[in-house]
Amino acid sequence: MSNALPFLPFTKPSVDEATIAAVADVLRSGWLTSGPNVQALEAQLSEYFGGRPVRSFNSGTCTMEIALRIAGIGAGDEVITTPNSWVATANVIIEVGATPVFVDIDPRSHNIDLDKLEAAITPRTKAIIPVHMCGLPCDMDKLYALAEKYQLRVVEDAAQAIGSTWKGKRIGAFGDFASFSFQVNKNIMTGEGGCLVLNNAAEAKLAEKYRLQGVSRTGLDGIDVDVLGGKYNMTDIAAAIGLGQMKHLAEFNAKRMALAKHYFSLFGGDFETQTGAELPIADFENSNWHMFHIVLPERINRAEFMQQMMDLGIGLGYHYRAIHLFSFYRARGFTDGMFPIAERIGKQIVTLPLFPAMNENDVARVVSAVKSCLS
Ligand SMILES: *Cc1c(COP(=O)(O)O)cnc(C)c1O
Repeated sequence: MSNALPFLPFTKPSVDEATIAAVADVLRSGWLTSGPNVQALEAQLSEYFGGRPVRSFNSGTCTMEIALRIAGIGAGDEVITTPNSWVATANVIIEVGATPVFVDIDPRSHNIDLDKLEAAITPRTKAIIPVHMCGLPCDMDKLYALAEKYQLRVVEDAAQAIGSTWKGKRIGAFGDFASFSFQVNKNIMTGEGGCLVLNNAAEAKLAEKYRLQGVSRTGLDGIDVDVLGGKYNMTDIAAAIGLGQMKHLAEFNAKRMALAKHYFSLFGGDFETQTGAELPIADFENSNWHMFHIVLPERINRAEFMQQMMDLGIGLGYHYRAIHLFSFYRARGFTDGMFPIAERIGKQIVTLPLFPAMNENDVARVVSAVKSCLS
């Protein structure tokens, strides 16, 4: 390695001693699976999302699958989504037997292009799964106007958007289903985990059944199974981590935003014209700054750029490769050129380090490395 500074990964979770102690308490308690900590976490999340029902799960993938099942979506139905996401977003559509229909993204926000969405709606369309990429929300007014006009359900893939807002209202506190991930890279995490914000008690009851083998219980030994559920419940160990993380959510997001601002100030106003690279939208109102992306100019080979940065002790991510170009999706008829913006972004995007334990010197180090690798 060409320099003595410690390796800077693109993300790293922050866990305090109180959380470690709380996990140890769970381990000593004898009750490790879903129990009082899961209930407490769900209650806190429900309060956070304006009193809407919230149920926790062991991922932010099954949350979306279960939302689709609750909405009754399956074989013969089409669900519109974005090709620019983690593959989970499209996989869940196929998992329930429905057909994914992709709509290209907006080149600036990297979110699904809502102006192109209407043209993809057919009589079979039942739902939309938009993604709030990097925590930058989609235009919620446009999104829900379309959903209402065509009577479509919405499953917001808000995996990256906890704490993001739209016109002062929290993502998840309004709208239809909102799915959050607590995977270890997200703004708050439970190791692995997720939660689903639902519309009413009936949906919440159904979510509980899908979460655990379709089981409902009454009295001491009353049990029935009336739907096909899976095994998706969160452990109390994970929930104890989540409760510890919730205490820091506002502070974590504020730190991310401050670091993002610092990125913009160090890149400077002429960075884009000088290098041909693209910076993200400088949104300091709605975004929770889950990630800080730059799009490399076409002249730069991403793998080589990542290697050069790695040699300088800096880890980068890439979020995401266009979903429709994976073999599994190509086998379903998708090909190159169908969604050119997502394809370009998928090839040229890199994720710079951004996490709450970073400081301004780390940002300065990344910016100077990026500038030297691009020159
Ligand atoms: C993380 C993520 C998921 C999947 O969440 P898991 O908890 O890993 O299952 C889905 N969509 C997006 C956009 C994500 O960032």
